[in-house]
Amino acid sequence: MDLDGFKRINDSLGHAIGDKLLQSVAACLAACVRKSDTVSRQGGDEFVILLPEVAQAADAAVSAAKIITGLMRAHTIGANRLRVTVSIGLSTYPDNGEDAETLIKNADTAMYHAKQCRRDNYQFFKPDMSLQAVERQSLEGHLRYALERQELLLHYQPKVNLKTGAITSVEALVRWQHPERGLLLPGQFRTIAEDTGMIVAMGQWVLREACRQTREWLDAGLLAVPVSVNVSSLEFQSEQFSEGVQGALKNACLEPRYLELELTETVLMRHAESTVHALGQLKAIGVRLAVDDFGTGYSSLSYLTRFPIDALRLDQSFVHDISASSDDAIVVSAVISMGKSLKHRVIAEGVETPEQVSFLQAQGCDEGQGYYFSQPVGAQQVAKLLETGGSLSVLR
Ligand code: C2E
Ligand code: MG
Ligand code: MG
Repeated sequence: MDLDGFKRINDSLGHAIGDKLLQSVAACLAACVRKSDTVSRQGGDEFVILLPEVAQAADAAVSAAKIITGLMRAHTIGANRLRVTVSIGLSTYPDNGEDAETLIKNADTAMYHAKQCRRDNYQFFKPDMSLQAVERQSLEGHLRYALERQELLLHYQPKVNLKTGAITSVEALVRWQHPERGLLLPGQFRTIAEDTGMIVAMGQWVLREACRQTREWLDAGLLAVPVSVNVSSLEFQSEQFSEGVQGALKNACLEPRYLELELTETVLMRHAESTVHALGQLKAIGVRLAVDDFGTGYSSLSYLTRFPIDALRLDQSFVHDISASSDDAIVVSAVISMGKSLKHRVIAEGVETPEQVSFLQAQGCDEGQGYYFSQPVGAQQVAKLLETGGSLSVLR
């Protein structure tokens, strides 16, 4: 088992408090198990518990549940009352291993899954978990070289003016052409890229490539539209980020107004106060700023008015539900009118059906993006779209 978020406690309250907390957890663990059981600390915030007298796997689950509830009460450390939760992986002898090393390794794999699913829970080891762990490792190993081997590429999805059908801009979406697995979507490698920190180098590449490509379209005399680029949390926090943006623009001789940065609501609100400053810096460069996946996180409305943003991108989950219930429709129209009052463009993501288009038009939503208009496509296909006047059909 492993404590959730222990590093944060250590970093914020100091190691002395962290040590005391570990002691308190250890005492609690010892109280939760039987005399015949062994509680040991593996290092850091990881503990291994050996239950030699379980008749069946379900008994181990009972112990795990007991430990989870036992640890839930607050730990009083000096002046602090700390609450900890744990993630537990379980492996059983002899099904999941015949020696200690294998049993611990498999319990570790199961614990990793417990962490991924939802914190504060336990998971039994299953053989396909190691397969997933191996897959992840192999993807991780490959991803390190994906950049230098030029396996990353960008697809672009148009955004469309809902009144006229004109393409207003395109969003760059990263893809990984994996030598064995084919074309991978961000969902298949983004967490790995984030966990390994690769996302920063990847994001730099995306910025440069999107700017370069836009320059190429402009030079070819196609309809001039801005490109938008998604920015991850780690990139946004990095001190060199705004320099990187300027570098990418300069490198491509691209005017800043042709670049829009998309930041998710969650990233913007996490450190709202410093975000005001960081966004101001970016705005000073002259790029446009958009709030991505709007409606899925928690926004402080007072910050929304202070952020120098140009557009709100209404998350696709709302758009999908427009027709499902009138309540969702009410939320969508409220967000659209709020965006308009704040003088932001409002863009609906994930538009798939004519019903959604007509609803959004009726609500005065400015732009739409989604499979109804176009899938994300390669640069050459974008060039074709921009060549033919850059207009896609909308309902009238
Ligand atoms: P996002 O920025 O919200 O992008 C929209 C996602 O919705 C894209 O998925 C797009 O292909 C998909 N989509 C577009 N229209 C429709 C539709 O009508 N229906 C449905 N069901 N889906 C639609 P994709 O390309 O898999 O990207 C997923 C997410 O990965 C993006 O969400 C974005 O957050 C992230 N991402 C993509 N490229 C980059 C990148 O270069 N850098 C960073 N940091 N994140 C990226
Ligand atoms: Mg986006
Ligand atoms: Mg989005």
